[in-house]
Amino acid sequence: MSVLIVGSTALDSIKTPKAENPRLLGGSASHAAVAASFFSPVKMIGVVGEDFPKKYLQLYRRHKIDLAGLQILPGKTFHWSGEYEANMNNRRTLLTELGVFETFTPTLPKPYQATPFVLLANIAPSLQHHVLDQMARPKFVVADTMDLWLNIALTDLLKLIKRLDGFVLNDSEAQQLTKEDNVFAALKKIHTLGPKYVIIKQGSHGSILSGPRGFFLCPAYPLPKVVDPTGAGDSFVGGMMGYLASARGSIDDNLRRAMIHGSVVASFCCEGFGLNRTAKLKRTQIEQRVRELETLTKF
Ligand code: AMP
Repeated sequence: MSVLIVGSTALDSIKTPKAENPRLLGGSASHAAVAASFFSPVKMIGVVGEDFPKKYLQLYRRHKIDLAGLQILPGKTFHWSGEYEANMNNRRTLLTELGVFETFTPTLPKPYQATPFVLLANIAPSLQHHVLDQMARPKFVVADTMDLWLNIALTDLLKLIKRLDGFVLNDSEAQQLTKEDNVFAALKKIHTLGPKYVIIKQGSHGSILSGPRGFFLCPAYPLPKVVDPTGAGDSFVGGMMGYLASARGSIDDNLRRAMIHGSVVASFCCEGFGLNRTAKLKRTQIEQRVRELETLTKF
């Protein structure tokens, strides 16, 4: 089955203590779509400006991502810039220029509307609503978010959370949303907002699922060196949704394995700037790390 993904399609300028890379292919939808494409067909919704390099469109095409929902409009592509501290965990946003995203209200191409798996990757909750409004009875809807939307669009976000099967956020966002320091207390509170499945991401410490079968502690792949973690969260949720769409059986049966696959794709994402490493990835390399994680966590 296929996955529909909406989110940002961006140019990212990223600074780490060791290097600086301007105008890389980025955005939540780009990272999530490439990650999902290793497992399932992907339909992407986004918008870029006329400044968007052709080589980035080719990268999407190499991953067989359906671009019927990607608009190219006069104006500038969304541009985000961030700087990492030496620990490669703490990040400061230096710049966010919405460009053509400012007024983006897409009409979904007809074949998109019946996509069974929907990932509302990080973008304004109003846009996530707008896309979900146009879907015909999807099987499984998951959304991701970021602190910005908790700060400036909380009402919209709370309405969206009610409509989801699964909600994915990171630990500091969960704390901000629930006012709970304890991650398990936060998970419990987020269920009361609507979703059956809640996943809290903890960066290099992995992620925690809470669902009908209880908790699942999903490890991060142990990396001795992180080059650039930008997009790791998007790769995680994209890989997870791609795997779920490809698997037979129920969501409950497959979700844990799906998270492991997402976690592995995210680990590759951290090993290169932007999408440089992920874009060269092979399915066999993913499966190798999945087996390693299996060995590492068996007792
Ligand atoms: P992550 O590292 O998983 O938090 O995701 C980083 C990605 O989010 C980058 O590729 C950015 O282009 C994208 N991003 C940053 N700010 C925003 C925003 N306000 N809305 C949507 N996407 C954003």
